[in-house]
Amino acid sequence: MTEKTAVRKVKFVNPVRLYGTIKAEIDAAYADVMAKGAFINQQHLRDFEASLAKFVGTKYAVGVNSGYDALMLSVKYKVKSPADEVIVPAHTFVASCSAIVNAGAKPVLVDVGKDFNIDCSRIEASITPNTRGIMPVHLSGWMADMPRVMEIAKKHNLWVVEDACQSLGSSIDGKGAGSWGLSGCWSFYPFKILGGYGDGGGITTDDADFAAWARRMRYNGEDRETGEYCGHGFTCLLDNMQAAFLDVKLRHLPEWIVRRKAIAARYKEALGDLPGLLLPHYDRPGFDHVYQNYTLRALEGEKFSAWMREHGVEVLTQFRKPYYKHAGLGLKDTGFPETEALSREVCSLPMCPELTDEEVEYIIATVRAFYGK
Ligand SMILES: *Cc1c(COP(=O)(O)O)cnc(C)c1O
Repeated sequence: MTEKTAVRKVKFVNPVRLYGTIKAEIDAAYADVMAKGAFINQQHLRDFEASLAKFVGTKYAVGVNSGYDALMLSVKYKVKSPADEVIVPAHTFVASCSAIVNAGAKPVLVDVGKDFNIDCSRIEASITPNTRGIMPVHLSGWMADMPRVMEIAKKHNLWVVEDACQSLGSSIDGKGAGSWGLSGCWSFYPFKILGGYGDGGGITTDDADFAAWARRMRYNGEDRETGEYCGHGFTCLLDNMQAAFLDVKLRHLPEWIVRRKAIAARYKEALGDLPGLLLPHYDRPGFDHVYQNYTLRALEGEKFSAWMREHGVEVLTQFRKPYYKHAGLGLKDTGFPETEALSREVCSLPMCPELTDEEVEYIIATVRAFYGK
C-alpha cells in the first residue's frame, strides 16, 4: 500500500496550506482593517453581513461571535416561559442543545435517520402542548428534510431555527440552508466550511424585527441610533478583522465546494465496493451535499479509526459519546437507537479543498488496506 505513494501523513484540515493560496487577499484585508483602526461594529462587518445574506438568500444577516451565540439569540427571541419545549436531534454538536437550555427553554431530543439528520417521522410523537419550536441541524453539509420540517411546524404552529453551522452553501431545490425558518445559524469556527482565523458566527433571517433585536442584543442591548438600552444584552459581536477575512473567503467558497464534491466523488468511486463501510451519499433529488465533512460509518468502529490514525491519516470521530450521555448536562437518555448505532461507527475522513490528489489516493489506499484490498 505505502509503496505506491510518497505521502505518509495527511492532516484533517490544513489551514496553513489554504492560507498560502489566498495570502495576498487575506493580507490586504488585514492591512485595510489595521489602516482604518476600526475593529468593532464598523464597515467591514456590514460588508460581510451583506455578502452573507446575499449568499444564503435572506434579507438580513447579523454577525455574532459564534454559532452558539447565533443559536442562543434565535431561541431566546422566541422563548416566553421555562416550560417552552424545543425539539432538537439527539445526534448533533452539544452547542445546539446548550443554546436551547441557556436561552431558557427545555430541549426535547429526537433520534436521527440514516443520513445523520433529524428523523422527521419521529417529530410529531414528541410534540406536546408545550412545544414551541424545532431546531433541525444540517450535519456535515447535508440538509435535514426542510420541506417536511416546515410542513410539521406549520401544522402545529411552531417556529423553526436552523442549526446550519455545518452546511453553508447547501440547498434543497435551490433554496439555501439557513433561509427556511425564523433564522439560519452559522459558525465560522476555523474548521467549518467557511472558517475564520478565530471564533465567529452569524444569523441570517428575513424577519426585520428579529434582525434589529439581534443587532441590539449582541451589543449590550444598545440601539446604536438612540443610545437606548432596549434589554439586558450580551457582548457577542463578530469582530471586524474576522469579518474582513470571512468576506475574502466567502468569495472563494463556491470553487472550494466544487473541489469538495470532486473529492467526495472520488471517495465514492474508490470505496463504494467495501461491504463494511456506509458512505455518506444519499439519493434524494434536489438535495445538494456540500461535504463540510465526509463522515462514513465503519462497522468495525474504533478499530477502523485507529488504523487510519496509525497510518498517518488524521480522522475525526464525532460524536463517539452522544451529548445526552454526559452526566453534567442533566439530560435524559430516553433511547435513541440510531444515534447509539452511528455514534459507535462514525469516522470522518479528511475533506477540505486544500487536500492534494496524492493525499486523497493515500487515504483511499489506507482505507482499502484495512479491508485487505
Ligand atoms: C460548530 C457547531 C456549532 C457551534 O458553533 P461555534 O461557532 O463553535 O459556537 C453548533 N452546531 C453545530 C452543528 C456545529 O457544528
